[in-house]
Amino acid sequence: MLDRELALGIDIGGTNTVFAIVDSEGNIHFEKSIKTKDFKQPEDLVNEIYNQLQKNSLLQNIIGIGVGAPNGNPFNGNIEFAPNLPWKGIIPLASIIEKKFNKSCKVDNDANIAALGEMKFGVARGLKNFVTITLGTGLGSGIVVDGRVVYGENGFAGEYGHIRVEKEGRVCGCGRKGCLETYVSATGVVRSIREHDSKNQASSILQTIAHPTSLDVVNAAKDGDKFATEILDFTAKTLGESLADFMCFSNPKAFVLFGGLAKIGTSFAENVEKYMNDAALNIYKGKAKVLVSDLHDKNVALLGAAALVFHELKYS
Ligand SMILES: [Zn+2]
Repeated sequence: MLDRELALGIDIGGTNTVFAIVDSEGNIHFEKSIKTKDFKQPEDLVNEIYNQLQKNSLLQNIIGIGVGAPNGNPFNGNIEFAPNLPWKGIIPLASIIEKKFNKSCKVDNDANIAALGEMKFGVARGLKNFVTITLGTGLGSGIVVDGRVVYGENGFAGEYGHIRVEKEGRVCGCGRKGCLETYVSATGVVRSIREHDSKNQASSILQTIAHPTSLDVVNAAKDGDKFATEILDFTAKTLGESLADFMCFSNPKAFVLFGGLAKIGTSFAENVEKYMNDAALNIYKGKAKVLVSDLHDKNVALLGAAALVFHELKYS
């Protein structure tokens, strides 16, 4: 048994639910993954987590519980109409957990969780103003202003992937055109293979791959493929110019990138920063860094959920 204050972090996903016991330094002491779809009711899942922790004598020092979940509402602790979860409608998850564990529970969505994880344990440690940009299937963002996550009136602040960067641009999953994530995301990069106009397109190695992925683009660029390099440059430029506009809103000290594309390494982030500074208003030029997260992607959700406890629960 551990004799210090611990948080239980839970990351609920469509396929797996991962939970971990985390201390205030960000060390993970116990971690387990279970299949979300194995549990017909959310109560069954909560009971399973409780039983696993009890079996391992890990319940005693938990000071609170943080949960990251798709469509998690930070205001009421509910999961609301999450399309990829087995439980439909509105699930009062925080209250189910609080009843079972007799401890406070906070629920939040993935993007805000990531911002909290970076602030407490990652490269944004000590920063009061920064924005996390998750480059996955889509583009997510978590905004921190003056040390607090920005939630907005309905908890939906930070849908930055749906800022429109091209008036008559690519059709987005949201039904509108030209959203940032149709260009800057793993799927956006794949779309660029077909839709980015270039004289180097025909001779690119990417044309020989049946269903190229964003990772194929990254690898081809590393091998010197001109078209792949152009795509990544176009992606960095689109993001950088958009971040230049974002600076007008909250004057951040840093943008923290993570997700698959960020792992290209510092060269991508440096390129984004260059384009951002080129496009920025004079008063912002050179004032913000574009950083790459140093937390492992897999841990961001768990550490962020734990950070909900240490940061939000403990001090609210
Ligand atoms: Zn959109």
